Amino acid sequence: MPLSIEAVPVLESNYVWALHDGSHCVLVDPGSAAEPLAFLGDKGLELSAILITHHHWDHTEGIDEILARHPVPVWGPRDDRIEQVTRPVGEGDRIDIEPLSLSLEVLETPGHTRSHIMLHNNDMLISGDTLFSIGCGRLFEGTPEQMLASLDKLAGLPGATSVYCGHEYTVDNCRFALQVEPDNATLQARYEQAQRLRDNNRITLPSTLAEERAANPFLRVREPAVIDAANQREPGTGDDPAAVFGVIRRWKDG
Ligand code: ZN
Ligand code: FE
Repeated sequence: MPLSIEAVPVLESNYVWALHDGSHCVLVDPGSAAEPLAFLGDKGLELSAILITHHHWDHTEGIDEILARHPVPVWGPRDDRIEQVTRPVGEGDRIDIEPLSLSLEVLETPGHTRSHIMLHNNDMLISGDTLFSIGCGRLFEGTPEQMLASLDKLAGLPGATSVYCGHEYTVDNCRFALQVEPDNATLQARYEQAQRLRDNNRITLPSTLAEERAANPFLRVREPAVIDAANQREPGTGDDPAAVFGVIRRWKDG
């Protein structure tokens, strides 16, 4: 069976991603244990590994309870704050999950936290709280320069790459993005689509990198419309990408 990727909703807005082939499964960022454990039970899946993007509790709180039932390797960033990680990984490392024939490459993407990682292969990007659909993570432990450099690491990835991020924030993110780029037709369409999906209790993810490049202001800091909006918001910003990024991020935090 080919790889399925399903979202298990937990907490207020988090998604635990379950990658499985009908028999083996990998869980990404279990911020809670009960729902992913029920998912494994319902589908009769054997857990092969847990993958972690960053140390925040809403991505890690379920690890211990899951490990108590399924003692599996835990791949994640090198960071003492995630003591359950048994397979620490960094930039350029590969994560191979044999039973699923799944191979992912690690990108170190500081900004949201200093040790955040994203995982990708030719088909998918697991972006945690670095890249959201139509948004990006708050800068809790990094600078605009660092976050922009992290997002710029995606430049070489194909537009068809599916983006699996950590939260259902798309509708709110679109509302903000439309303040930055009110005339962006792709963004307007994404907003309407996301609202429709949420009205029907459906998930707005995954998106694609092509969609994000066309509508996510944090991937568009070199676009004239976004540079203009940043300079309206904070006159004298200029067109330096990190400076523009910083203005847009502050504006959203505002
Ligand atoms: Zn986080
Ligand atoms: Fe989070």
